[in-house]
Amino acid sequence: TDLSKIRNFSIIAHIDHGKSTLADRLIQRTGGLTDREMSSQVLDNMDIEKERGITIKAQTVRLEWTAADGETYTLNLMDTPGHVDFAYEVSRSLAACEGALLVVDAAQGVEAQTLANVYQSIEHDHEIVPVINKIDLPSAEPDKVKAEIEDIIGLAADDAVLASAKSGIGIDEVLQAVVDRIPPPKGDRDAPLKAMLVDSWYDPYLGVVILIRVIDGSIRKGQMVKFMAGGTQHLVDRVGAFRPKIENLPELGPGEIGFITAQIKDISQTRVGDTITDVKRPAPAPLAGFKEVQPVVFCGLFPVDAADFEKLRDSIHKLRLNDASFSFEMETSAALGFGFRCGFLGLLHLEIIQERLTREYDLDLITTAPSVVYKIHLSKSKEEGAKTIELHNPADMPDPNRIDTIEEPWIEATIYVPDEYLGAILKLCQDRRGIQKDLTYVGGRAQLRYELPLNEVVFDFYDRLKSISRGYASFDYHQIGHREGDLVKMSILVNAEPVDALSMIVHRASAETRGRGMCERLKDLIPRHLFKIPIQAAIGGKVIARETIAALRKDVTAKCYGGDISRKKKLLEKQKEGKKRMREYGSVQIPQEAFIAALRMG
Ligand code: GDP
Ligand code: MG
Repeated sequence: TDLSKIRNFSIIAHIDHGKSTLADRLIQRTGGLTDREMSSQVLDNMDIEKERGITIKAQTVRLEWTAADGETYTLNLMDTPGHVDFAYEVSRSLAACEGALLVVDAAQGVEAQTLANVYQSIEHDHEIVPVINKIDLPSAEPDKVKAEIEDIIGLAADDAVLASAKSGIGIDEVLQAVVDRIPPPKGDRDAPLKAMLVDSWYDPYLGVVILIRVIDGSIRKGQMVKFMAGGTQHLVDRVGAFRPKIENLPELGPGEIGFITAQIKDISQTRVGDTITDVKRPAPAPLAGFKEVQPVVFCGLFPVDAADFEKLRDSIHKLRLNDASFSFEMETSAALGFGFRCGFLGLLHLEIIQERLTREYDLDLITTAPSVVYKIHLSKSKEEGAKTIELHNPADMPDPNRIDTIEEPWIEATIYVPDEYLGAILKLCQDRRGIQKDLTYVGGRAQLRYELPLNEVVFDFYDRLKSISRGYASFDYHQIGHREGDLVKMSILVNAEPVDALSMIVHRASAETRGRGMCERLKDLIPRHLFKIPIQAAIGGKVIARETIAALRKDVTAKCYGGDISRKKKLLEKQKEGKKRMREYGSVQIPQEAFIAALRMG
């Protein structure tokens, strides 16, 4: 294909501003799908995505559009994941394009995620075309939103396209703007093959499907290619594009976006950002910007019913087929039995996996408190020299006497919030050890920049932010590295025995509050016994909070007045049943439900 007739672009937007709806409209307008096929959103093809309104896996569509000049153009629309957890995938998708449509809701205006995405797009030297969407809404204020785009982002918005993806207004104008304003790709057909691996997923019929952007050279069926970072070689057995249905093509040339398959079974061989080149005539150097993605949030996943362990293992393996970015290894807990320690790119990623396991695989799960990755600097011991370890399970915390310092990951958060909720949000950030960097006002809303320890964010920060602001605050973040912190492992002891699943790493200053909260909850959750049960929170050997469950005075069955035999029997049977699901701590029986409840309240 003639390079001057290609346009590669993505759509960037804050959640719910209409990215998917617009994408569907563009597909419909260019004839990719019939009206009936349009009835369900095509780019968001998983149930959870639809419900949450997010896009988990990047997908791309090739559109054909005859522009005002009478020429037919190939437009490659790259859909990007909609959440910060997938920041690296987003960055590779953007790197595969020359421009972006910036979709802003005409009634909501610019929000935190709009900003984060647009700055990334600018970093990739994109030509950005603002599209003000939802102009059909009575509350639409396109002029105000234009002014916001200019003031906040610094992007000229005079010739922003006014559109309603829902009613089909401005769709041709959007397509024409893509042709007119987004530059065509550059590339050298005669140079050795250089293609970027943008995304990959597992398809039950095709095996691993790889989305690529060809930079130089071309790629054909039958070609032996090499993945430069992965170090593996593969025979290309299919080349094509999505329209959005699969269409096989003889080849993909420079500037083109499409997919290949190469008989790959294991998705972990396909690393996003890798360079694909020809085995016989390789490119001298890979593309810049390859990065190995690492999980940043870890937690334990355990089946509520121990008999479900095998099922959990199968389900996790199946999910992993499609998502190389989450990791898992087996873990055993005295409290919760057999399960898995899993690593995720962020909290939302964790929630997605957890929800898919629950929903698609019908599993009842217990999730332990999420933990970030700590760097622990150990001093020299008799056995070994000084060294640094990475810790992502509080249970593996080394002997405190050997710890020199602990570092924890920090993030920079951008929060957008209407004025009236500002005070409460400031307090929340302050309570979470936040450091304020910036506070500005834009159109009746405050834009806050805070540095926060990730450990304070993984608990319930996002939920709190949303409830404090009645859903109006928006939040975005990126990691800014590790910093030293006064962190300690807090253990929870029931009848003097530590309960592994409940231990956590906390800042010394908030240990007491957290510890007291946990003890109080457990006091209500653990049934009384014939003896007193102390519940303690401790750092090392030092108790920082304590509650006591009073002893039961007499036999439970004494409560059954008069001694109704059948009732008494029933009660005893019930107890027996309950015992199966109990764990014993220093002769205290704790119902499984108590752990679950204690963990859920975090
Ligand atoms: P995304 O999260 O950016 O992909 O947003 P969606 O495309 O899923 O849209 C979010 C919601 O806004 C959905 O309920 C859409 O039906 C609605 N929506 C999208 N575009 C428009 C529009 O132009 N006008 C109106 N009134 N609603 C729209
Ligand atoms: Mg969407």
